[in-house]
Amino acid sequence: LPEQAQSKGLIGRLFGRGDSGPVARRTLDDDMLEQLEELLIASDMGVDTALRVTANMAEGRYGRKLSTQEIKQLLAQEIARVMEPVAKPMPLYPKRPQVVLVVGVNGSGKTTTIGKLASQFKAAGKKVVIAAGDTFRAAAVEQLQVWGDRAGVPVLTAPEGSDPASLAFDALTKAQADGADLLMIDTAGRLQNRADLMEELAKIVRVIRKIDETAPHNTLLVLDATTGQNALSQVETFRKLADVSGLVMTKLDGTAKGGVLVALADKFGMPIHAIGVGEQIDDLAPFDPEEFAAALTG
Ligand code: GDP
Repeated sequence: LPEQAQSKGLIGRLFGRGDSGPVARRTLDDDMLEQLEELLIASDMGVDTALRVTANMAEGRYGRKLSTQEIKQLLAQEIARVMEPVAKPMPLYPKRPQVVLVVGVNGSGKTTTIGKLASQFKAAGKKVVIAAGDTFRAAAVEQLQVWGDRAGVPVLTAPEGSDPASLAFDALTKAQADGADLLMIDTAGRLQNRADLMEELAKIVRVIRKIDETAPHNTLLVLDATTGQNALSQVETFRKLADVSGLVMTKLDGTAKGGVLVALADKFGMPIHAIGVGEQIDDLAPFDPEEFAAALTG
């Protein structure tokens, strides 16, 4: 696709350049549905989801001549329908401190997301503590401290190479003693050795349950939306490593590949708690299905 056409939303691309004015009309036939499927697949929606969305669009309307605007609205409506059930903010419990374990591969945006969430919770009047559980990456610990400072939230650390579970235990003990509302625990994202990572995450859970058998109360998986279909396999992997309760999708700014969220919603039905829309502390938004669908269809 030429660059200019690519920068448009799905509908702009369907009608082609210079042909997407509100008066352009097209028949909803096999040809159009096929083109639409291809565009949806190219946006990383996945074949199954793309077929379902287009089939729903065609139901009861096949053969009709529709305007650009009508097609756009129909598509947005079908996408929003898939997304509505998964748009749920992270649940907050009366339990204090509520323990939030944050998992995901390195580079997905875990550190940034923890900083943004900490800042939001603090602004909402919550007392937040962060534990820098990726003790093997000194740079990750430093980054988290930078984010903690920005958010005005304490970050508990341990010497490089020390046991993350022991840090988590100390952090929960301290969070409890300080009367914190939320403890967010960062974790390592080395997928190179899954058995190790699985053991590390399992040990963190085991150890914090010695203090609170209901912890962790949330296990957030942070996914980079620009990795496209790869995000799907990350969900599969991390669900084997941890009891994932919800997703945060990062880097949704500046990607035309947001279709993977639709595939995720369709395939796993896991709640999407928030989306990352930039690198700044306020760039974390609740997931809004209608806004998302409108942006994707453009
Ligand atoms: P971690 O290794 O998973 O902890 O990832 P980081 O939090 O360090 O993020 C990796 C990179 O992605 C950094 O350069 C962040 O600034 C960037 N990043 C994180 N979230 C977003 C987002 O929502 N939008 C954009 N544009 N960049 C992001």
